[in-house]
Amino acid sequence: MHCIITPTVAITGSVERFPVRRIFCVGQNYAEHTREMGGDPTRQAPFFFTKPADAVVDSGAELAFPSETADLHHEVELVIAIGTGGSNISVDAAPAHIFGYAVGIDLTRRDLQAVAKAAGRPWDMAKGFDQSAPLGALTPGVPPDTATIALTIDGEARQSGNLDQMIWNVAEIIATLSRFVALAPGDLIFTGTPAGVGPILPGQTVCGTIVGVAPVEIRYRA
Ligand code: MN
Repeated sequence: MHCIITPTVAITGSVERFPVRRIFCVGQNYAEHTREMGGDPTRQAPFFFTKPADAVVDSGAELAFPSETADLHHEVELVIAIGTGGSNISVDAAPAHIFGYAVGIDLTRRDLQAVAKAAGRPWDMAKGFDQSAPLGALTPGVPPDTATIALTIDGEARQSGNLDQMIWNVAEIIATLSRFVALAPGDLIFTGTPAGVGPILPGQTVCGTIVGVAPVEIRYRA
C-alpha cells in the first residue's frame, strides 16, 4: 500500500500548512540579473518554467548536496501563493487571487542549465531537481511593492535588491501566467531573482530574506 503525501508550506502565525499544487517560476525578471545572465532586459513578455510540487523544502533543513552538478547556484526570490484560482485574470483582479507570500530560493544547477541552453533543450534537470525550492513560512496577504530582498552565504552578502526592481510586477505575472494555465489554489509562483547569483559549496549555510517576511535558511552537509 502506497501513500501519497501532499507537499506543504508553513504559514506564519498558524498551525495549518499550505498544500502545494504546482510550482511556476519566472525567468529573468530583474534587469541587472538579466544582464549578468547575458540577456536583454528590455521589457519582453515574461517566460515561465516549472519545478515539481515536492521540490519544496522548509526553512531550517539540512540537505545533502545535489547530485550531478559542480555549479549549484542560489537565486533568492519573492514567492506568491495562489489562494483563488482562475483563467485570464486581469491585472486589477490579480491581488484578490493571492493567499500569501514568502521568500524562497530557486536553486539551479547552472552547469546543466548552460548545456541545456546551448543545445536548445529543456531546463527541467537544471531547475526541477529534488529539494530545489526551499522557502520560508508564508505571510498571508498581498506582498509589498517595495522591500529589500537579499541572500547571504555563511553570513556574507551575496545578493541584494528591491522588489520594486522587478520588470514584471506580481499582478502582471499572475495575469500573464493565467492566460497560459488555469491557476488554482496551491499554486506557487517564484517571481525572479535580483543580481548577484553565484555558487553554493558543500558545508555552506544559505539564508534568503525579504524585510518583514519569515526568512529561509538551509545548510548543505559537507
Ligand atoms: Mn529564478
